[in-house]
This record gives sequence, structure tokens and C-alpha cells, in this order.
Amino acid sequence: MKQYAMLVGGRWVEPASGAYFESVNPYTAAPWALIPRGGKEDVERAVAAAKSAFREGEWPKLTASARGALLCRLADLVAAEADALAEIESTDNGKLIAEMRGQLKYIPQWFRYFGGLADKVEGRVIPIDKAGVFNFTREEPLGVVAAITPWNSPLLLAAWKLAPALAAGNTVVWKPSEFASVSALVFGRLFERAGFPPGVVNILTGYGGEVGEPLITHGDVAKIAFTGGDRTGEHVYEMAARGLKRVTLELGGKSANIVFDDADLDEAVKGVVSGIFAATGQTCIAGSRALIHRSVYDAFVERLLALARTARMGNPLDPDTQVGPVTTRPQYEKVLDYIRIAQGEGAVCRLGGGLAERPECGSGWFIEPTIFTGVRPEMRIAQEEVFGPVLAVIPFETEEEAVRIANGTLYGLAAGVWTQSIRRALTMAERLEAGTVWVNTYRAVSYMSPFGGYKRSGIGRESGIEAIREYLQTKSVWIDIVGHAPNPFVMR
Ligand code: NDP
Repeated sequence: MKQYAMLVGGRWVEPASGAYFESVNPYTAAPWALIPRGGKEDVERAVAAAKSAFREGEWPKLTASARGALLCRLADLVAAEADALAEIESTDNGKLIAEMRGQLKYIPQWFRYFGGLADKVEGRVIPIDKAGVFNFTREEPLGVVAAITPWNSPLLLAAWKLAPALAAGNTVVWKPSEFASVSALVFGRLFERAGFPPGVVNILTGYGGEVGEPLITHGDVAKIAFTGGDRTGEHVYEMAARGLKRVTLELGGKSANIVFDDADLDEAVKGVVSGIFAATGQTCIAGSRALIHRSVYDAFVERLLALARTARMGNPLDPDTQVGPVTTRPQYEKVLDYIRIAQGEGAVCRLGGGLAERPECGSGWFIEPTIFTGVRPEMRIAQEEVFGPVLAVIPFETEEEAVRIANGTLYGLAAGVWTQSIRRALTMAERLEAGTVWVNTYRAVSYMSPFGGYKRSGIGRESGIEAIREYLQTKSVWIDIVGHAPNPFVMR
């Protein structure tokens, strides 16, 4: 098994503890890599390196255009390594090679877009209401940013944080998930090759409690950019609040895919299937609730079952596989628990409902694509994030009822609407409490379009121009231009 090292201050280092843990391939359920088990001491070193790189040396002296050029060079290197990185991700987290290749080929765009944006961040000259002074603003970086990423799309979600953070001039300490660290450690080499000064990007691996917590609570960390579960996100927010730190939190959801009776049902069936079974349901934007208009309900469910039954399960490295394993053992157990909960609540299991024991599934953590009907909106299976291939189907009668059910969870990440009516599309886009609304499509994201959650799905936005503002702070500068001190005893 290959043993990896962490990146601190431009050097590849062992953890201070000397300890390593195994990363497991979800398809074979066998360990395949040894990951450094970082701790508090490593956090001290990495944050010190990031702080020093922020204040001294080459990085703060670079023009914004030069920073942008480094990001564009990084983009080219990622593009050249895309296939190799995709294979690592697929081996480490069990997601389909086709999906990971698609992500890796798209990731360079985040670095190009924010590289291009780096020198378009401008302050303002304010036509101030006071005589004899000149007032302008500067947009400045925050300092050291902690980026904490999950296992489902490790490099994509890191790019969403690192590209704007670096474009804005911050330095970064990045902690990937303990379940998918290898791609981060290999990716780290590209920062060196692109020419980033040492310490601008540092990578620490290990467990959330041992590396993540000391990183978040460290006095020299200015901001935490986190993607993961809402419970962990809540804890991250509490820790950050004690230090009055900035956060962006991207925390998953219980997104509704709403099919009206005027929809193109062939397209809608594909959209609902792709919303929940692509990526084995392990995405924050999974359309885990299908809301179907009563008049097309029976016909739609039959088509849904027919299409879902055709899903080919198997080795995620095989390009023909459509549904891979669940990434982690705890996740596998959590999904099985939710299937039992749904059955206990009286939902009707129409497809799947358990382990997939087929030869093509190896010894991996596979769960059959599962569809429940007879689901009521208040059931736990319709309220809580499962993060697996489990769909809850709920009928509705009116637009009003669809909106009420769709908005009736604690989450608000995304929603899908299937209709031919432009009036209905626009009305639903307005009324749905979600950071993203897709009409007649699902699972589309872009480096150009802001992404984030309403309600318990998160705080702040990633991607698009909005994202760079999350990594900047505004300074107001006042300059006297008349040269005589006004009355020192009153405010100017
Ligand atoms: P977590 O939210 O626990 O993990 C996300 C990241 O946070 C990982 O890097 C993790 O490290 C880190 N972390 C965990 N605990 C802490 C802590 N106390 N302080 C600082 N960092 C911490 O996700 P899980 O893997 O446990 O999955 C749990 C649930 O979260 C899933 O079932 C799913 O519902 C949801 N989820 C949502 C995602 C999304 O895209 N929104 C992505 C992944 C999960 P480590 O891996 O070492 O624990």
C-alpha cells in the first residue's frame, strides 16, 4: 500500500504523531492507501506556514493579474492530469469513473474563471458627503482560510473553495475527508508545479475531531469554508462563532423533483432517475423526493420503476456501470437504517430495499436503487437526508400543495420542476425555497452560477461572481485633501 505525505509550507511531511490510517476502496472493501493521521501539532505548523505566506514572501507581493496567471497555470495542469486524478477518486470513493472524469475535466474551469476574476476585483471611489476628504474602498483578502471538504466529490468541492479563496489573495489550509484523501494529496503536487509560493496551500489529512477542530478554532484562521452534513456543519458554525469567524457552509438537502401533469413525462422520468440514482444518491443535490401530480401518478411510477430497474450496478471503474457502491461503511449502514425506518413508517417499497448481492458488485457496499411510494410528507424518509439511492415518491393535487410539500422540510438546497408551462415554471422558481431551481433539467452546475442553500442547507454561495466576495473584506480609506485640521472635538 502506498503511504502518502501531507503538504505543509511547501514540504511533504509525515504527521507529528507518526501515525497513519487506511483508506478503503468501497468496491473491494479492502484498504488501498495509507493516509497521515494529522493532529493539533500539524495544524499549528500548517497554519503558521499559511500565515507567514499570507504576510511575507512572494504571495502578498504578487499583482492580482499574477495571482490569476498562477490559477490559470494550475487549470492547465489539472486538465493534463484529469484522467489520473479521476481514477484515484473513483478508487477511493467508489463513484463512477464516468462521473469523476466529467468532474475532473470540468474542474479547470473553476481555476480559469477565478483566475480571470482575480484582477477584476475593484474598490470604489465614493462621492463622499464631506468637504475636503477623499474616500475610497479596497477589497482585501481575509487571511488564512480553512477549507474542509467531504468524500463525495472531493476535488470538485475543493476547487469551489480554493479557486475563489486564492484569487482573492488568501492562503489556505485544506483538510479533505478521511474517507477520500488520496486525490487531495496527489493534487497538492500541482500547486508546486504551477509555481504557487510555499505555504500558500497546505494540505492536512486526518479525522474531523483531530485535525478539523483545532484548525477551525485556531486563532490565526480567519474563515472556514465547509461542505458536509448539516449536523457537522452546525458544530463547525458553533466553533467558528466562538472565534467570530466567517463561514461558508454547504450542507446538503432533501430536494424535491416536482412533476406536473403537463410535463414531458419521458424527460421527467429520466430527470427523476438521474436526480436520485446518479452518484448512488450521494450528492447534496440529490432529488430524494419525487412529487408527482395525482393525474399522472400511476403511469409515472410505472415508468420510473421500469427505468430504475435497468440501472447497471458494478465496478465504478467500468465505464458502463451506472450505479456504484456507497462510499463508506457508516454511510452504508445509515442508508440501510433509513430503508428500515421508511418500512416501519408504512411506506411501500416498490423497488430494491436492501443490499445488492450480485456477482458484479464484488464485495463492495452496494445498495439496490430503492423506491418508496405511499410516502406522506411528514415521514422521516421524506424529511431527512439519506444520502443514498433511496427515493420517496409523494403525490400532490395542486400547485399550491406542491409548493407546500416541497418547502415543508428544514432544507432548501435545490428543486426540480417539470412542466411545459412558462407561467408555472416562473411561479415555481419564485415560490420554491431553494438556492437552485432547475426547470426541465436536473443536476446542472457551473463555475459561473452561484450555488448554495436556503434554510438549513447552508450559508453563503460558491461559484459565480458571488463566491469571491465570500473571501474578501472591505476597507474604507479616508484621505484629507485640504490640509487643515477641523475642530478636533467633533466628528468630521
Ligand atoms: P461530515 O459532514 O462529517 O464530513 C465533512 C467534512 O467535515 C470531512 O472532511 C470531515 O472529516 C469533517 N469533519 C467531521 N467532523 C468534524 C469536526 N468535528 N470538525 C471539523 N471537521 C469535521 O460528513 P460525513 O462523512 O460524516 O457524512 C455524514 C452525512 O453528511 C452524510 O450521511 C450526508 O448526509 C452528509 N454529507 C453531505 C455532503 C454534502 O455534499 N453536502 C457531503 C458528505 C456528507 P472526516 O471525514 O475526517 O470526518
